[in-house]
Amino acid sequence: MKLLCPKEITASVTHLDLEALWRRGIRGFLMDLDNTLVGWDSDQLTEEFQQWIKRVQEDGFKLCLVSNGIPSRVQRFAAEMGIPAVVRAFKPRRRPFYKAMQRLDLTKSQVAMIGDQVFTDVFGANRIGIYTILINPLSVKELKSTRFVRKIEGRMLRRFVKKGWIPSEAVLRRNGGF
Ligand SMILES: [Mg+2]
Repeated sequence: MKLLCPKEITASVTHLDLEALWRRGIRGFLMDLDNTLVGWDSDQLTEEFQQWIKRVQEDGFKLCLVSNGIPSRVQRFAAEMGIPAVVRAFKPRRRPFYKAMQRLDLTKSQVAMIGDQVFTDVFGANRIGIYTILINPLSVKELKSTRFVRKIEGRMLRRFVKKGWIPSEAVLRRNGGF
């Protein structure tokens, strides 16, 4: 159960406290793509996120995409951002996370996984003890199958609040219909 619980919940990548993460020893981010950096139905990285990616790199963080999305799409965005990507990741499998750490030459205590889904991004990274950050999905318009997952996610998160694992405000702020 605890393996499904993120260490941190925040509205979007731009809300991350980079200084706090740096102090924690984090030097790299394993990034989900769809609904974390771009809407799953979008072809464009927003200006705001482009700036954020530049800024974190200037701050000394390394980035790597880890995505289950369409490989050509993931590669295109990775090239645009100038960062490596692990494609066909099949999160929550452990392998893609190890691969990404290898690409960044960082250990599991030096990276954080940032993503919008509990069952792939959070669960996969928690399994190997990586620090996990759940962010609100960018696009509320989602596939039916994803909407179903969101419902279960919502239920889980509320249970984590009851257990005192995560603050209730964080979950209230999360959109997706609950
Ligand atoms: Mg995603």
